[in-house]
Amino acid sequence: MNEENPVPATKPVQVYGKSDQLAYERTISMREVTFVCTVCLQERTQLRYPGRLPLYCSDACRAIRAEEQNAERVRKQREKRQKQRAAVRKPVG
Ligand SMILES: [Zn+2]
Repeated sequence: MNEENPVPATKPVQVYGKSDQLAYERTISMREVTFVCTVCLQERTQLRYPGRLPLYCSDACRAIRAEEQNAERVRKQREKRQKQRAAVRKPVG
């Protein structure tokens, strides 16, 4: 999955028969889908390939979510480290 590059309006889909040999290739078309962006919570209608609904309306929203997830990961790592340190440090006396 590479959504960073601008997608063409159609993409080839390889269809395989019983063997591994390519039976034929067909092209699926993009269609308009309406979804709610999980970051800005705006309802968007965009041309997308059929399948799972997109989570983000734009690269900007995707970047925001990636940053949030990164911050969350750093926070959890820090908590984990603090817990480990607390566990090692035993009360003396
Ligand atoms: Zn958005």
